[in-house]
Amino acid sequence: MTIRDEADKIAGDVTELRHAIHQEPELGYDLPATQRKVLAALDGLPLEITRGRQLTSVTAVLRGGRPGPTVLLRGDMDALPVTEATGLPWASRIPGRMHACGHDLHTAMLAGAARLLSARQQDIPGNVIFMFQPAEEGGGGAKIMIDEGVLGAAGEPPVAAYALHVFSGTLGTGVFATRPGPGLAAMDAIDVTVRGRGGHGSAPHQAMDPLPAACEMVIALHSMVTRRFDVFDPVVVTVGSFHAGTVRNVIPDDATFHVTARSFSPQARQRLGAEITRLVQNIAAAHGLTAEVTNAGGYPVTVNAPDQAAFATATASELFGADRAITLAQPLTGSEDFSYVLEEVPGAFVMLGACLPGTDPETAPSNHSATASFTDDVLADGTALYAELALRRLAAASPQ
Ligand SMILES: [Zn+2]
Ligand SMILES: [Zn+2]
Repeated sequence: MTIRDEADKIAGDVTELRHAIHQEPELGYDLPATQRKVLAALDGLPLEITRGRQLTSVTAVLRGGRPGPTVLLRGDMDALPVTEATGLPWASRIPGRMHACGHDLHTAMLAGAARLLSARQQDIPGNVIFMFQPAEEGGGGAKIMIDEGVLGAAGEPPVAAYALHVFSGTLGTGVFATRPGPGLAAMDAIDVTVRGRGGHGSAPHQAMDPLPAACEMVIALHSMVTRRFDVFDPVVVTVGSFHAGTVRNVIPDDATFHVTARSFSPQARQRLGAEITRLVQNIAAAHGLTAEVTNAGGYPVTVNAPDQAAFATATASELFGADRAITLAQPLTGSEDFSYVLEEVPGAFVMLGACLPGTDPETAPSNHSATASFTDDVLADGTALYAELALRRLAAASPQ
């Protein structure tokens, strides 16, 4: 039986696990109920299982019956602080929490792949690490799992690492996509506080008004993007929130705004942070004010190793047909903490279109939306691809 047939056979269980996780979403580092469900799904399989210490991760190692290297497969497990509005029968039962990024599918498919590969244990030339990861949505859970030793879980570093991510729009249902090189942007969350001195709105000369200077900064940041950065190594800067003052006739002491900054190379990322700081502090100084700039966290660029991206595309193409395996022309401007794994291990981040059948991927609600829906139809094929990537990568590395 092929991996696809085997994945089809367990699709019912994978779907059931997905729905159970979907109904009880959890946020951030602490996902005890999700961890319990994963452990129950892996129960009885010939896996070496360790749990995270700082987060509720699950690392499972399958040791194949034949010698060979190690491959890592990753699925993230956390939900988002969104109240679900899909109306699905198995929608979230917890207001304010929703699996709006489809991580419930990743977790269920990865558990399914662990089952398929466990059934072939004796034939597998090498080891597989299954990385069930909390806190992808801003918490950098992948970095913490690396610090806690996930890459060494099988006793040697993996030769390759793969992650799957579903999309409720953008791609056609069942289409796998990746690209060589940058696949997703680096992200930095930058907070700016402009400090002045408050006073009466009728007498600004007696105060130090931070508000016009902060407005100038927002405009200048956007000009800076076009004047200081190469269009072929682009950056994106968005000021998504801006807060200053309370009423019309009081000059506030300070003004605050929040920036998300995206870039596609380590060089551009480093320069972007430095340029934002320089610009903001010098505009403040020009007005006799000061500005504090803090980086509230970020993720590196997600860089796919060209040969691994090509291998993932070829594997998907052979399993599902060339029309379901595409190479993206450009990276996405979103970001991912699988980037930390790909900084250490060559691999690929593979997208999987999962919009509901009959909907237009161009207009379907996107990931993170309260109405984002991901179809169960892709669960069997996603499970099969996870398993097949590990099998083929290990077979390619082992002497026949
Ligand atoms: Zn997300
Ligand atoms: Zn996600």
